[in-house]
Amino acid sequence: MPQLFDYLPPEGQALPPAGSRVSVSFGNRRVIGLVMDSGEVDDATNLKRIEAVLDRALVPAHLLELIHWAGRYYGFPPGEAINLVLPGVLRRLKPFRCPPPQRLAISASGRSAEPRNAPRQQDILDWLVDGVLTRDELLSRGASAATVRTLLAKGWIAPAGQEEPLAAEAGPELNPEQRQALAAVLRSRHRFASFLLAGVTGSGKTEVYLQAARAMLRRGRQVLILIPEIGLTPQLIRRIEARLGLCAVVYHSGLSEGERLACWQAAASGRARVIVGTRSAVFLPLARPGLVVVDEEHDASFKQQDGARYHGRDVAVMRAHLLGIPVVLGSATPSLESLNNARSGRYRLLRISRRAGPAVQPSWSVADLRGQKGALDGELLNAIDRHLEAGGQVLLYRNRRGYAPVMMCPSCGWQADCHRCDAHLTLHQRASILQCHHCGASQRVPARCPECGEPDLQPLGAGTERLEQQLQQRFPEVPVHRVDRDSMSRRDEFGRLLEEIRRGRPCILVGTQMLAKGHHLPGVTLAAVLDVDQALFSADFRAPERLGQAVCQVAGRAGRGDRPGQFVLQTRHPEHPLLAELCRSDYLSFAGHLLDERAAAELPPCAPLAMLRAEAHQPQPAQAFLRAAALRLDDPAVEVHGPIPAILSRRGGYWRFQLWLQARERAGLVHALPDWLASLYGLPEARRVRWHLDMDPLEL
Ligand SMILES: [Zn+2]
Ligand SMILES: [Zn+2]
Repeated sequence: MPQLFDYLPPEGQALPPAGSRVSVSFGNRRVIGLVMDSGEVDDATNLKRIEAVLDRALVPAHLLELIHWAGRYYGFPPGEAINLVLPGVLRRLKPFRCPPPQRLAISASGRSAEPRNAPRQQDILDWLVDGVLTRDELLSRGASAATVRTLLAKGWIAPAGQEEPLAAEAGPELNPEQRQALAAVLRSRHRFASFLLAGVTGSGKTEVYLQAARAMLRRGRQVLILIPEIGLTPQLIRRIEARLGLCAVVYHSGLSEGERLACWQAAASGRARVIVGTRSAVFLPLARPGLVVVDEEHDASFKQQDGARYHGRDVAVMRAHLLGIPVVLGSATPSLESLNNARSGRYRLLRISRRAGPAVQPSWSVADLRGQKGALDGELLNAIDRHLEAGGQVLLYRNRRGYAPVMMCPSCGWQADCHRCDAHLTLHQRASILQCHHCGASQRVPARCPECGEPDLQPLGAGTERLEQQLQQRFPEVPVHRVDRDSMSRRDEFGRLLEEIRRGRPCILVGTQMLAKGHHLPGVTLAAVLDVDQALFSADFRAPERLGQAVCQVAGRAGRGDRPGQFVLQTRHPEHPLLAELCRSDYLSFAGHLLDERAAAELPPCAPLAMLRAEAHQPQPAQAFLRAAALRLDDPAVEVHGPIPAILSRRGGYWRFQLWLQARERAGLVHALPDWLASLYGLPEARRVRWHLDMDPLEL
């Protein structure tokens, strides 16, 4: 609901402070409430009383302020904002018993402990000396739940992340640029400042913020590190823990409710010193905050795309502002949003222009796809041959999973399309299905064309699965590993593969974005981006930025060890100005150009944009709602365009339309939206559609 509700204090008591968790009666139910604010009312006759105060000031004031801001800025109702800061179990009346901690570590006292006549306790201590284990791992090795409890009670073991720090592993020595960046962050340790740490791939950005984190930890402060996706960066958490000398509390959407609550409480009490989490961790309470880090800040997974739509990076900056602490946004390929903030002086740009250690940037070349027999031919094929021969590893990036993006009938031209989306179905040959990558619908591959009966249906184009097959045929002696959501569905699978690859034996990796996410693979000497052409002609104004980021990230995987690297960019349009610019200059000047273009076209981030979206099973109700909504917006500061169809105009059976809301100044937009949004709930047209506001949208 778009509003807050008024209650009186419990009989004979003062009003509990804001942030208190209370139980109230609502309609004919009893529910949990959160006190947001207090004030006088003119007429209290119809107001109910708070029934009981459960936790006083549970949510700290700065976090309440953050969700007030987020609700206003992103236009979501207060209830959704509260969902972001209160774990599920605290939003329900049912009492909840915290489950035993899952990840366990040995404490300093445990290391020196000598349990007499307790070999089972000794076993557990011995196992944990080698590193964190989960409770299930301990039990499967023969530990009993009772022994684990005893050790926890003695303080010899502790939930991981809450034990006293060990000696931190000394990191490599910083080069002058890294040292300057570190010094700049540390000079601001007592106040808010936002830094954009833009370092070329392999430049040791992580080392800079880990050393800043160490300095904060030594002062007894907590450090919050946001990363795009936990499963894709298994090495990062281990590296953070080794450098900081303590286990991180890891927070992400895959946790059970009990684990979430445990993290929440550890963060709120200050017991958790280092918290590593995905975007939702930005809303964790912190007792002694010292530093916020957003790693790979350009990554689109920081944006929540459903429910309460917020951008984790932008909320992190506001959070640091409210806390009065520094925030570091790190990336080799910063978003135009952050570069724009650096241009305007809101963020301070810290550049690291060379790779750490002896490694140098790879050499670049463009391979012309015209006249070739598919992606694996000509120049690229020769390069693969050469690098494997020389004992190198090869990494090939293709932004399409599945066998082929289109399945077609050669006789009548029929193509397999999704019935619920405006999109082709992707052929997954191994699973023998056609699957829609937008709504997930899948069906068996038809034996013949449903239109004309032709039995010989043809796959068109190549996804990662087909490339894997072709590579295996062409290089039967060399292991080929496919890395995408289909092949790496299990959580630990990817981590194991990365370890195998780091042993350094020649191999070929072929995969999607998962491969381009900041991994350090010193054996890779050749990296290539296959067939980028779709992105060159996209209707999405962000496509060139994303292309540039993917290209530079993939290129950055090559030559990180002691051997020089090569990068190949494959295209049918080698003369395209965007590609020419990318090859000629570095990412920052490429991005600077794009930013000039956005400014000229009055597009984000140079002009603020919000989108009101509506979806319905027919186009008409969605359009009608948006037209009615547009009529209600009477603010000269805001320009309204539309309704116009989304780029993917139908998804999952819903027709999708949107209004573009633009203004010269962000403040004008943010000021106009809340009252307008509140008024839309009452529109009769609203009942027939699903609608939401998307501030700073990433999807068009
Ligand atoms: Zn046909
Ligand atoms: Zn679909």
